[in-house]
Amino acid sequence: MAAITLEAVGKTYAGGVKAVHSIDLAIQDGEFVVLVGPSGCGKSTLLRMVAGLESVTEGKISIGDRMVNEVEPAERDIAMVFQNYALYPHMTVRQNLAYGLKNRKMAKAEISRRVDEAAQILEIGAFLDRKPRALSGGQRQRVAMGRAIVREPAAFLFDEPLSNLDAKLRVQMRGEIKQLQARLGTTSIYVTHDQLEAMTLAHRLVVLNGGQIEQVGTPLEVYRKP
Ligand code: ADP
Ligand code: ADP
Repeated sequence: MAAITLEAVGKTYAGGVKAVHSIDLAIQDGEFVVLVGPSGCGKSTLLRMVAGLESVTEGKISIGDRMVNEVEPAERDIAMVFQNYALYPHMTVRQNLAYGLKNRKMAKAEISRRVDEAAQILEIGAFLDRKPRALSGGQRQRVAMGRAIVREPAAFLFDEPLSNLDAKLRVQMRGEIKQLQARLGTTSIYVTHDQLEAMTLAHRLVVLNGGQIEQVGTPLEVYRKP
């Protein structure tokens, strides 16, 4: 059974905009799929539907053996990383990392274990007691990834996580995500408009255009010049 399955998926927004349609895709366990395509082609809509942040108006999306819309948001076994970090400004890094787990009523010792492990993986242990405003952009993005990692989810969903960073930091963080991918092996869907990110990270690339899948393949297959 595929980790994430999309069958004839479409989205028509209230007002009538048909953002995506006829999407069929089976993402395997441990697979890192990158969604690319021009602005407005529906990448973000598709990702947000998998996350359950947007209703699915046509077709079916399932994670494991459960349909996305049948699972309560708090029970969804996925974690999303956004480009705007979405950190809580009034909380320390440690509190930001622990927040989602506390909400899920996890035991304190387990929360500490997971926060410490994520801090070690992401090398953010030195500023666990700082607030987000006292961090650099790259450090904030590491904390945002830390929040996803501590959940130990069945899948990560990345929505252009590096697009707010400067060019140098983007290259560095791209390498770090590659290492995370090798270390954790978590099924992932990653949205980007950066070709180098796509080529570096993708096991499989899905090219969207006008709300439909235009091409699916390895980076070599997709970017090979004819
Ligand atoms: P991408 O992430 O590839 O830039 P989006 O998924 O954001 O594309 O957008 C796909 C299409 O859906 C665009 O035409 C966009 O204007 C439209 N759209 C996105 N969000 C909404 C919304 N909340 N309401 C109506 N239309 C939307
Ligand atoms: P958790 O850390 O447990 O995911 P949050 O309170 O951070 O809890 O998020 C609650 C829900 O809101 C989640 O489904 C999350 O994906 C979504 N969410 C959080 N931040 C944003 C954001 N900046 N934009 C859109 N959705 C968000």
